[in-house]
Amino acid sequence: MTDPVFFVAAVPPSGAFELDGDEGRHAAAVKRMRPGETLVIADGSGTWAPATVIANRGRGLSLTVGQAVTDEPPALQVVIVQALPKGERSDLAVELATEAGADEIIPWQAARSVARWDGSADKAQRGTEKWRRTAREAAKQSRRHTVPRVGTLATTADVVSEVGRADAALILHEEGSVPLASSPLPRAGRLLVIIGPEGGLADEEIARLEGAGARAVRLGPEVLRTSTAAAVALGALGVLTGRWTWTASYPVGPVPAVGADRYGKGMASSDPDCLFCKIVAGVIPADIVARTDTAVAFRDIDPQAPTHILIVPVDHQPNVAATAAADPTLAGSLFTMADSVARAEGIGEPGYRLVANTGAGAQQTVFHAHLHLLGGRSFTWPPG
Ligand code: 5GP
Ligand code: ZN
Repeated sequence: MTDPVFFVAAVPPSGAFELDGDEGRHAAAVKRMRPGETLVIADGSGTWAPATVIANRGRGLSLTVGQAVTDEPPALQVVIVQALPKGERSDLAVELATEAGADEIIPWQAARSVARWDGSADKAQRGTEKWRRTAREAAKQSRRHTVPRVGTLATTADVVSEVGRADAALILHEEGSVPLASSPLPRAGRLLVIIGPEGGLADEEIARLEGAGARAVRLGPEVLRTSTAAAVALGALGVLTGRWTWTASYPVGPVPAVGADRYGKGMASSDPDCLFCKIVAGVIPADIVARTDTAVAFRDIDPQAPTHILIVPVDHQPNVAATAAADPTLAGSLFTMADSVARAEGIGEPGYRLVANTGAGAQQTVFHAHLHLLGGRSFTWPPG
């Protein structure tokens, strides 16, 4: 089971720390955490640290906190513009969108929303605060280190200007002619996903949003409720854009220590003389296109096709067969990463070639496991 997450105002330096306040009481009295159990403390903005319980004081916990880590935000930020749903469906929408990974949620007073926050400033403020609390709780529940930002109440004019600021904007619309799955999607930047109210979007709203550059798309054949649409769209986007398979690095963020896994438990092996170990560690620069905790994809220095990318596990093994023997899951993940990168590079169709030269006789020159991803031209068979 993944460690529970508790939010603090700021992640403390490593060492002793007292978790008090509401979060401390919740951890001590409700979760009844015991000495030796592990948890994560996070600031809600992406910085977090692993921690171990030393003592449960009933109203709080005494902890030893490890080294803090700052997660790289997803290259593609998904902003949900949610028309105000009725009553408790409102909380459900925010909860599900947060659990499914929304980066930001903007409450929208759409023409046909039955719920109205625009009666008074006080009402709008209370509504936003409620959504913020719900997002925080849902982020904890789904073990997120980052709580989605919840904006203030937007009018349709505000949403139109958001569309202008975004890199792409989608209107989820059951009558949209283009399915989301075949709609071009950005791989980085700010993607707005606009969801109408129970009563549906007004024609005038659709016209204004499309006029600003938004595209109407439909999800599947089912008609979704306004409270579930965001979560379903986020799931589809997680797969279609690679948000769920790898962390794109444009530009490349801080390079994690070689081999230190997220909790600093196991250490991946590394060879100080190995070229790819040095690239993985950031000692030798490379044009990195994707990175996860366990693998890195970067462009080949001597490309043999318009797209030529190397997929390399962080763990040093002499070839992919050795990687598969040491860690079959990791070996499998190299193929899914290659496929995500291929799609992001636009070579998923008509197809790409993966090559794993194994041994000097097969022209292997770097003895650190890697897959060559080649595409953007036609191929012949047999290969040379
Ligand atoms: P192998 O021949 O071992 O299958 O593949 C090694 C690949 O690494 C070759 O395609 C080669 O062009 C690439 N390569 C060698 N040195 C570097 C480097 O310093 N940077 C990058 N990005 N690729 C390299
Ligand atoms: Zn290596």
